[in-house]
Amino acid sequence: MMTLQENYQQIVDDHRKYVEQGNTVDYTFRKHQLEKIKKILKDYETEIYDVLKKDLNKPDHEIITTEIGIIHTELDFTIKNLRYWMQPEKVASPLTHKGSKSFIMKEPLGVVLVISPWNYPLQLSLVPIIGALAAGNSVVLKPSEHAPHTSDLLARMIEENFDPSYFSVIQGAVEETTELLKQRFDHIFFTGGSAVGKIVMRAASEHLTPVTLELGGKSPAIVDEDANIQIAAKRIVWGKYTNAGQTCVAPDYLLVQESVKFKLLKAMKKQIKSIFGKNLSQGENFSKIINEDHFKRLVAFLNEDHIVHGGEYNQEKLIIEPTILDKIDWEDPIMQEEIFGPILPVLQFENIEDALSLIKSKEKPLALYYFGENPRMQSQVMEYVSFGGGAINDTFFHLANPYLPFGGVGQSGMGSYHGKASFDTFSHQKSVLKQTTKFDFPFRYTGGTVSSNILKK
Ligand code: NAD
Repeated sequence: MMTLQENYQQIVDDHRKYVEQGNTVDYTFRKHQLEKIKKILKDYETEIYDVLKKDLNKPDHEIITTEIGIIHTELDFTIKNLRYWMQPEKVASPLTHKGSKSFIMKEPLGVVLVISPWNYPLQLSLVPIIGALAAGNSVVLKPSEHAPHTSDLLARMIEENFDPSYFSVIQGAVEETTELLKQRFDHIFFTGGSAVGKIVMRAASEHLTPVTLELGGKSPAIVDEDANIQIAAKRIVWGKYTNAGQTCVAPDYLLVQESVKFKLLKAMKKQIKSIFGKNLSQGENFSKIINEDHFKRLVAFLNEDHIVHGGEYNQEKLIIEPTILDKIDWEDPIMQEEIFGPILPVLQFENIEDALSLIKSKEKPLALYYFGENPRMQSQVMEYVSFGGGAINDTFFHLANPYLPFGGVGQSGMGSYHGKASFDTFSHQKSVLKQTTKFDFPFRYTGGTVSSNILKK
């Protein structure tokens, strides 16, 4: 019987052979694979809804918009642009290279390992894979063991529709992933927490395998005194409590200018009821916390002295109501780690400059959201603070624009994807110079005479 190690080695070898034999070079082949994913999403639609409910109790609307919808947007955008992206890109050549042509070819990297998390278990598995397949790679997916129904379905959907040497799924937790990471991949695309990101990068370095790390962190939402409060309230509530706050780009905490705090919190409470409804702890229109460990970690933050909205929870169903905690300061435990749940701590500021300096003194966040109407201040905030990506007067929505590369910076990640950025992430840019043989400049060679005219130009 094969050991786990031998089994994985065999899988990776088969995948590499598949690419090296040239099976994925063709545009029509790649397009067909992407169209197949589109078809699979339709064919398995009922089961997709079923598993996402079992794993996370996701409401239908969220399944459409944040899982299936985002995958379709990415598929359509990639299919539409693929032929163009695959073409060699012509670039200029300097005068010293007269007679030559220069271009950049886009070459598949080989075998890509995609390791995905549990919070958007379908979308965060398939969206990177769309880029990897579009760029002509073969893919091994390792989905999260914490969303087991979705992982099982992903494994079945892929097994039933793709050549196992081209696109396959390996399921497992730490033990299996540790073994898998010993294999030599040509790129590893990891989405998850920073701690595991470091483990992945360490393992990748053994083979000098490049990595893309899509990590997390504490992303602030800032509301300034001139913000449109009603709109800010609606968009922050939506961004924070979708998927019960288990979203990498959810506003982790709220920083509000003190003069508008009362009005904003009042508007947010109204919006929570209007967007998500009542009796949420019964789990009718609200995602559950992924497991008991995370549930307990989050419940420990529910301090009666700070709760100004929500705070109810249902241990049996693992649901925590959308909760707002006021009068929080930077030293409180909830400000020491990524919350990743439906609890929003509120901090207030007098001067925006002080608030920005405090954000800057922390690790660079994955996202930042600024609500305010003054264009000068908007630009200042965007320029002054470093963060992965974000929005002015919105939360979350930047990630659904396929024209915008999505990724972190510093501790929130490295590399990016979505749209063309995905295609580029999973391609090697091969630079080629095509030289003329019609003439030859003697100055290039030792002993040749340098033409002063050419150097002057
Ligand atoms: P995680 O890091 O615990 O797990 C992610 C993946 O790594 C899973 O497939 C898991 O099986 C694997 N893994 C876990 N421990 C491992 C180990 N010791 N060795 C090898 N592999 C291991 O993350 P999670 O709990 O699934 O997701 C939550 C985190 O992911 C949050 O920090 C969140 O911000 C982040 N996240 C980031 C993005 C993004 O796009 N930047 C998106 C979603 C989630």
